[in-house]
Amino acid sequence: MKKILLGLLFLVTFGGLMGCAAQVETQVSEIASESPQVTTEITTEPETEPETEPETELETEPPVDYKTIKPNESGEIMIVMYHNLSERNSEYARTVESFKSDLQRLYDMGFTTIPMSAFINGSYDVPAGRTPVVLTFDDGHRTNFNYLEKEGEIEVDPNCVVAILDDFYERNPEFGRSAVFYLNAGNPFGQPEYIEEKLQYLYDNGYEIGNHAYDHEDLSVLNAEGIQKALGRNVQHFNQINSQLQMASLALPYGKAPSSDLLRQYVVEGDYETAAYHNEIVLKVGWKPTRPIYSSGFDPSRVHRVQSGDGDMQLTWWLNQYEKTPEKRFISDGLANRVSVPNAFSESINMDKLGELELFLYDPES
Ligand SMILES: [Zn+2]
Repeated sequence: MKKILLGLLFLVTFGGLMGCAAQVETQVSEIASESPQVTTEITTEPETEPETEPETELETEPPVDYKTIKPNESGEIMIVMYHNLSERNSEYARTVESFKSDLQRLYDMGFTTIPMSAFINGSYDVPAGRTPVVLTFDDGHRTNFNYLEKEGEIEVDPNCVVAILDDFYERNPEFGRSAVFYLNAGNPFGQPEYIEEKLQYLYDNGYEIGNHAYDHEDLSVLNAEGIQKALGRNVQHFNQINSQLQMASLALPYGKAPSSDLLRQYVVEGDYETAAYHNEIVLKVGWKPTRPIYSSGFDPSRVHRVQSGDGDMQLTWWLNQYEKTPEKRFISDGLANRVSVPNAFSESINMDKLGELELFLYDPES
C-alpha cells in the first residue's frame, strides 16, 4: 500500500510538473482501481490541472494504447484459399451463404483484408487492434466474377465473389477491399467476351491477379524449360490483355513444386519469350496460418494457406482456435511504419527483412 501511494504521489507531482493531466489520469485510474481507498484523493487532483499537453510530447508519444490493444505484429496471419462458389459446400467449393458468413465472422472477429502486395512488402496497415487476412481464389471460376446480361446491359452478378466482396466492403469499410485471383490463361472467369472488362474492373478496384500456370501444369514433373514456359507464358498472356495488372505471386497448381532446389528456383523466377517473371511469394495448398514476411525463418517460396471450409485445419476450425487463443494472431498497432512486438517475441523478427520499418519492442505488462 505504501509503495502504491508513493508511486501515486510521484505520478501526480511529475504529472503536475509536466502539465500532463491526461496521461496521469489514465495511469492513476488503472492503479486506483486496485486500491479504492485512494481513488478520491488522487483522481480529483489531476482534474484541476489544465487539459493541455505540450506539443512536443504529442509528437513523441505513439498514438497507440499498448496496454489495451497489446499489439503483436509478429503473430499469425491467414492467407485463405477459396476456389469455386457452388450449390453445396465441398472440399473446393463454398455456397454463397457460407461465403458470406465467412466474411461476416472474419469481420466480427477483427480481421481486415489486405492485398497480397501489402503482405509482400510487409505493410500490414490495418486499424489498431485488428488482424490482416489475405483472401485468395484459385482457377478463375466463373462464380468468382460473373456478368449477367439484362436488356442489352451487363451487370455484375450479385452472387459472384467480386460482387459479394464489393457489397461487404461498402457496408463495412473497415474490412478493406482486397482479394487475389490466381488465373490460368484458358478461360478465366468463364466469359471470354468480357475478360478485358473484368481485368480492368479488378485493377480499378484494388483487386489483384496472380500466376496459376498457363494450363494449370503440374510443376513438379517439368524441367527448367517447362516450368518457365508454364509460368512465363501465363504472364505474357495476361500482360497482353492488361499490362497494368502484375502477377507478383504464384499459387502452385495442385500445391506441387519440384523437389530439387535447382528447379525450384525457376518457380520463383525465370523468362519465357518476352516475359520475365518473379514470384515474391509461392503459395502451397496449406493447412495453417503463416507469419509476416519479416519473421525469422520465413521462406517466401513455401508459404502455407488456410483452406476455406468447415473441416479440420480449415478456416472455420482456425477461427474457432482464435476464439480460444486470440493472442496468437497478428494484432496491429495501427501504424504503417512501425512493427510493434512484445519483448518476449523479439527473436521472431528477422531484422534484415524489416527494411524501412521500425521495430518497437515493449513490455505488455508495464
Ligand atoms: Zn488450381
